[in-house]
Amino acid sequence: MYFSKLFIPILKNNPTEAKIKSHQLMLRVGMIKQSSAGIYSWLPLGFKVMKKIEQIVREEQDRVGVQEILMPTIQSSDIWKESGRYDDYGEEMLRIKDRQNREMLYGPTNEELVTEIFRSSIKSYKSLPQLLYHIQWKFRDELRPRFGIMRCREFYMKDAYSFDLTDDDALFSYNKFFLSYLKTFKRLNLSAIPMAADTGPIGGNLSHEFIILAETGESKIYTDKRIFEVDSEITKIEKNSLNTLRGEYEKYYAVTDEKFDKEEFEKKVSENQRINTKGIEVGHIFYFGDKYSKPMNAAVDFNGKKEFVKMGSYGIGVSRLVGAIIEAKYDDKDEIMKWPISVAPYDCAILPMINKNDNSNLEKSNKILEHLNKNNIDTIVDDTDENISAKIKKFNLIGIPFQLILGKKSEGDTFEFREVGKETQNLKIEEIITQIKKAKSN
Ligand code: ATP
Ligand code: MG
Repeated sequence: MYFSKLFIPILKNNPTEAKIKSHQLMLRVGMIKQSSAGIYSWLPLGFKVMKKIEQIVREEQDRVGVQEILMPTIQSSDIWKESGRYDDYGEEMLRIKDRQNREMLYGPTNEELVTEIFRSSIKSYKSLPQLLYHIQWKFRDELRPRFGIMRCREFYMKDAYSFDLTDDDALFSYNKFFLSYLKTFKRLNLSAIPMAADTGPIGGNLSHEFIILAETGESKIYTDKRIFEVDSEITKIEKNSLNTLRGEYEKYYAVTDEKFDKEEFEKKVSENQRINTKGIEVGHIFYFGDKYSKPMNAAVDFNGKKEFVKMGSYGIGVSRLVGAIIEAKYDDKDEIMKWPISVAPYDCAILPMINKNDNSNLEKSNKILEHLNKNNIDTIVDDTDENISAKIKKFNLIGIPFQLILGKKSEGDTFEFREVGKETQNLKIEEIITQIKKAKSN
């Protein structure tokens, strides 16, 4: 791919309206464009990253046996009246009337709709558990949309729902999501910590927020350093090992401000282990029993007895994660971004020094591009006539993890090559391919 042919509208300077680094960078390198307050278009670079995140989220849902569906964005108010949330949800819900004057809404979440889908088909306990997810746009009319796509009004979310017969089975489902979230965030190269959370308007009694530490985060957090060392690897997805895994995390104090208790924190965490900072919520899981199944009459037959199913819901902010990764990885002092290769828009950038009367570096680039593409290394060539230091500066911001520079130091069959933010090396093309492939396979 050639830079000059792509739609990547780079800004010369940091946009002044953006307060945090992810918002600045996303506007600066043309990943998003605001269309109205809290509503954004995703441009090619941003869209590519978000799609890669989405795919990782999807694979980790599939791996624990969650089935993908797709529910609409527009819902009827009827089911929300059944659950009792139509009034409770308040002004965050965007309410719409269709031409027949029916009350509709743009879904802020999908507990009601998925319960309606479930109850209309599943009648026997033998069909349980049912684990369903979709990845779909949501709308919440946030009072103060801010920080770009971090707190916006229209955003992209993975939301999953579990249906079980008993509390015990439901906890098994909950723990499957707990595990899949740990795996998802690890693949995104983030250390997201599960923290005991309040259940808020969704209600219920067991809940964890997955939080990454960041000064610019909106959640206050209190935790124990040692929680970062918990080993999240398990070999088998079964009740006991998942219980043990969650227990390993729950050994350590880790809460957001709603659950914070100063005395308890000081008693449980010795002074040198305490972390008291801010974080970004990237995922949230809830167990809420029959909170929706009861009012909405979602029940199964269990040996002639009617049992309301026990439910949980599980969200990941797919679009928010794009910004969260930037907050975690971008060094705004030196203006260097490095995307984890698992979500990078491209694997490698070729930056040729191009002189007016000499096309040889561009021709070399074309050959290398072909060679890298053949090896499944997604590569972009900066074929513009900017000078080489401007190109490097620009690509340090774009954050493609590897740079191959065709300038004075690239001679014969060795090339100047580096991982963004690190020292350059002079390597042969085969060595470059090996290094990138190795990074991709980790
Ligand atoms: P918050 O406390 O940040 O408002 P929430 O508790 O309302 O989040 P959930 O209902 O649990 O969020 O939604 C699941 C996930 O969706 C959140 O963990 C977050 O990553 C994402 N999310 C929620 N609201 C927004 C928003 N306004 N903009 C972008 N992402 C959001
Ligand atoms: Mg909210």
